[in-house]
Amino acid sequence: MIKNVFLMCIIGLVLICICVAGLPGREVQVSFLNVGQGDSIFVRTPDDYFILIDGGPSVSVLEELAEVMPRYNRTIDLVLITHPHADHVNGLVEVVKRFEVKGVMLVGTPSGNTFYQEILRLCGEQGIPIYFGESGRDVKVGSYLYIDVVWPSRSMAGVEFENLNNASLAVRLIMPDKVFMLTGDAEEEEEREILRSGFDLSADIFKAGHHGSKTASSDEFLDAVEPDTVVIQSGAGNSFGHPHKEVLERLLRLGIQVRRNDLEGRVEI
Ligand SMILES: [Zn+2]
Repeated sequence: MIKNVFLMCIIGLVLICICVAGLPGREVQVSFLNVGQGDSIFVRTPDDYFILIDGGPSVSVLEELAEVMPRYNRTIDLVLITHPHADHVNGLVEVVKRFEVKGVMLVGTPSGNTFYQEILRLCGEQGIPIYFGESGRDVKVGSYLYIDVVWPSRSMAGVEFENLNNASLAVRLIMPDKVFMLTGDAEEEEEREILRSGFDLSADIFKAGHHGSKTASSDEFLDAVEPDTVVIQSGAGNSFGHPHKEVLERLLRLGIQVRRNDLEGRVEI
């Protein structure tokens, strides 16, 4: 009898631990974090790989990560930096300090952003490998995720860009049952370049380029991606007027479902 009670206690304890830690389902979890006016996307695979694409403009990314990440985990397997603008990288400084980051992928275009430079310095100090993204260097992450780099088509490390938005690392996240297209702040110029590559760009979910600005998410690009859903990462009441009404009208006309951080907070898919 005492033995049975003891066994029940152990089973109960294990169940509580599982509930606290959270068990991943079979699907990949993709969270468009609520970081205000900026981009940050967290991906967790069922085999427990953790990927972060951009880190938003501030430490608000830490609060969001605390909500979506299991408490036991302090590791991020790969951080993707689309481009070194403040609203994409500044929050990453504290991420690199507080988590064990195993690798960083970026385009490598030079930038005077001191937060970006600090991230590069921390990577050097902590021995975090930096990979320069290019379409020939796709990444397989565990059994459930394949990162298909669609831009740049060749290494752009050290290449200066007048408009850094058009130096955005663009990737398709290919999962067993969903494909995501993420283009950072790429505007029409980069979208045209991606279209010229002739790659398969189809995706179920597209993150609107440049926070829903009318300079991105062109008709031609949307035709090629053909998403069911578009997620817009823009902050409530932002001073840029993002998302622009032209983009919202375009998406409405095409019958595409729109999810927005400024209206919903964190968007989970
Ligand atoms: Zn941006």
